[in-house]
Amino acid sequence: MDTPIEVLRRVFGYDSFRAGQQEIIEHVVSGGDALVLMPTGGGKSLCYQIPALVRPGVGVVVSPLIALMQDQVDALTALGVRAGFLNSTQEFDERQRVEAAFLAGELDLLYLAPERLRVDSTLRLLAKGEISLFAIDEAHCVSSWGHDFRPDYLALSELHERWPEVPRIALTATATPATHAEISSRLGLEQARHFVASFDRPNIHYRISSKNEPKRQLLEFLRTEHPGEAGIVYCLSRSSVDKIADFLVDNGIAAVPYHAGLDARTRAAHQARFLREDGMIVVATIAFGMGIDKPDVRFVAHLDLPKSVEGYYQETGRAGRDGLPATAWLAYGLQDVVQHRRLAMEGDEAHRRRQVLHLDAMLALCETVACRRVMLLDYFGQQRSEPCGNCDTCQSPPESWDGTVAAQKVLSTVLRLARERRQKFGVGQIVDILLGKKTAKVLQFGHESLTVFGVGTELTNTEWHGVARQLLAQGLLAVESDYGALVLTDASADVLRGERQVRLRRDAQRPARAKSSGGA
Ligand code: ADP
Ligand code: ZN
Repeated sequence: MDTPIEVLRRVFGYDSFRAGQQEIIEHVVSGGDALVLMPTGGGKSLCYQIPALVRPGVGVVVSPLIALMQDQVDALTALGVRAGFLNSTQEFDERQRVEAAFLAGELDLLYLAPERLRVDSTLRLLAKGEISLFAIDEAHCVSSWGHDFRPDYLALSELHERWPEVPRIALTATATPATHAEISSRLGLEQARHFVASFDRPNIHYRISSKNEPKRQLLEFLRTEHPGEAGIVYCLSRSSVDKIADFLVDNGIAAVPYHAGLDARTRAAHQARFLREDGMIVVATIAFGMGIDKPDVRFVAHLDLPKSVEGYYQETGRAGRDGLPATAWLAYGLQDVVQHRRLAMEGDEAHRRRQVLHLDAMLALCETVACRRVMLLDYFGQQRSEPCGNCDTCQSPPESWDGTVAAQKVLSTVLRLARERRQKFGVGQIVDILLGKKTAKVLQFGHESLTVFGVGTELTNTEWHGVARQLLAQGLLAVESDYGALVLTDASADVLRGERQVRLRRDAQRPARAKSSGGA
């Protein structure tokens, strides 16, 4: 029988293990259960692939990444590993062929979509073969509090009851302490050994800027910092993906769109170009990226706010897998907060609570004046005392200022509109009132006669938007309707009464040259 290091060298062609791999592999090879928390790019796959090759029988890998199974199997086949998969996208013939190979003991690894395990015939099939281990990939999918819950994962707890002697290894790249605990209890892995690697990705530079003119800001970021380099640009909607991809191409930058609205062939072709061509940018919704293994992604840019810190961490984690410097760049603005607060009002009570917690954590990361990395790691339960020196807040510490009076002005405008006029308006109108602008809409509603009209000329339009964004982020203002109408919250009253101070972060000034460069 080969030892793990021999398999690493002979089959995978690598010289040595990465941090943590050897211990995990030896533990599983000897029949132990494991729960592995390791960041993206850390090398989780080998942690179950090598034990599956060393132990007798077939390693069964449960993975939600159905779209990637073919690629994973092809890559393993190219290395001489006998692998197959079963999922719902398959033709009957193909499935039969894989099942026959499994029964004949001709497979080293079998990838399964989780829903396959709810089908009796799959369980009967597995019962007839010899299983070396169960690997549960993307194990955070079992957590209902996480960001990517898949009900099919709940059934995985039964594996242990049916096959008590088969070792299980669950793996994830994103888990807060709460998610970690939930994975452990839901999968019955309390007795398993837990391997928790550092989630720090020191080569990734984190930067979060306020969004004024997203296209222009993106273009400037790409041209000044990553010309000709490969990267991913994430947008929230399919239509903005298409628009941004066109915009980049129009500006002479090689980019392709990727989202679920494109047909499968186009998606596959764009993914292949991203993987194979140098310096290609993919503009995508979050449908893109899970399991994509491209080492030289030099940046991940977000043009819209991710829904959660877990999502942000996972998406940005696709940059710099090769260990070389990479940038995680996010532009976020008032509209993001408005939109997310609105999305967070959908669904049932539990869903709403979860969304709000996720959003608040994400906003806190955006608005912090402290080191982003310290905050990110803290979110995942990993303390780090020193600021990192490789994030925007470390490199140019943002000033904070006493925004109590500014906050009071915004809040009292909202209050007066509600009390005196029984009206609700969005941020734009509130700011116009504070600046004393006699726009058509101001005159139409007679807002020039409000006592707050024109009381806010000490700040610019952009600065007022920044104030409103931060008040929303801090829960001192809320969005009520689809139109972004602002309303007060319980906490607003304390500020209005002068019982609560408001600290605000001064947004970085726009570079001077941006002003003449035309609206992008
Ligand atoms: P994860 O699933 O944790 O994101 P992967 O298993 O996809 O990471 O591994 C990331 C990359 O690192 C892959 O290209 C993989 O081949 C490579 N890799 C993993 N372990 C080693 C190793 N010991 N030596 C060299 N490269 C490795
Ligand atoms: Zn830092």
